[in-house]
Amino acid sequence: MSDTIAYHNGQWKPLSQCLVPVNTHALQYGTGCFEGIRGYWDGTRINLLLLEAHFRRLHRSARTLLMTPPSVEEMTAIAVECVRRNAPSGNVYLRPMVYKAGTGLGPVLLKVPDGYMTYLISLGDYLDTSKGLSLCVSSWRRLPDNAIPTRTKATGGYLNSALAKSEAVMNGYDEAVFLNDRGQVCEGSAENLFIVRDGRLHTPDRTADILEGITRKAIMQLARDFDIPVEERPIARTELYSADECFLVGTGCQVAWVREIDRREIGTGGKGAITTMIQTAYENAVYGRDPRYDAWLTPV
Ligand code: PMP
Repeated sequence: MSDTIAYHNGQWKPLSQCLVPVNTHALQYGTGCFEGIRGYWDGTRINLLLLEAHFRRLHRSARTLLMTPPSVEEMTAIAVECVRRNAPSGNVYLRPMVYKAGTGLGPVLLKVPDGYMTYLISLGDYLDTSKGLSLCVSSWRRLPDNAIPTRTKATGGYLNSALAKSEAVMNGYDEAVFLNDRGQVCEGSAENLFIVRDGRLHTPDRTADILEGITRKAIMQLARDFDIPVEERPIARTELYSADECFLVGTGCQVAWVREIDRREIGTGGKGAITTMIQTAYENAVYGRDPRYDAWLTPV
């Protein structure tokens, strides 16, 4: 799918024709917030994953950033219509975004008109996970919540992610792990992080300057359903190195196993039993093969 049909401020157009002026606030000042939603092709239809959770998060983000998106119901209807109009026959990724569409001078959120758009692309794997990921602890610190709230999935905040990811790749790693400004483990450039210690999952808590990932929440539910205890708590850097297993989760990367961090092999260096179990359970749920999780899916 090259030039898909997209929604932009009330109109359906080819994506290449959904344009903004160069002096748009969102471009000049990074004032927007967005979502990334996967749709899984099951051979006959697309199942959009956790749609309501994504749009509820977008609404909360927009409220914090003084933006007014369409209602959750309207955004849902637009997402579904976007899939219908493009009639894909493979996995897709939807990108809804609310942004400040004014063109006046000065970074401000008040009294600046909002824009809204949704487009879709085909998407296979976001990270190559066949041989396990090699991570580094980034020299860039994660944005503190009271500087640019990571919880809001703000467009401008992704400069922080882009710096960390670029540094990681330039140094020969697949992905970066941020520490927050308190020096605690935070998240990847676009993923939440879990470690396994003594049969339990541990992940940074919601005040650790993370994005409260939709996949993170889904994984915690799966783990508990499979009788794996989960703890949300501050995690120290060296717990990464001594973990039995480690994996990243997110809409893009899904469940991606981590082989090494800062050149230290994690656990036995292979994909661990709990990572494998969570990966399989997640895949079964998103492809509609486990009826317990049918409520996660919106078929189109
Ligand atoms: N953290 C960051 C910084 C992200 O960009 C993402 C991707 N949206 C995640 C975590 C994972 O969130 P989700 O599971 O909602 O995709």
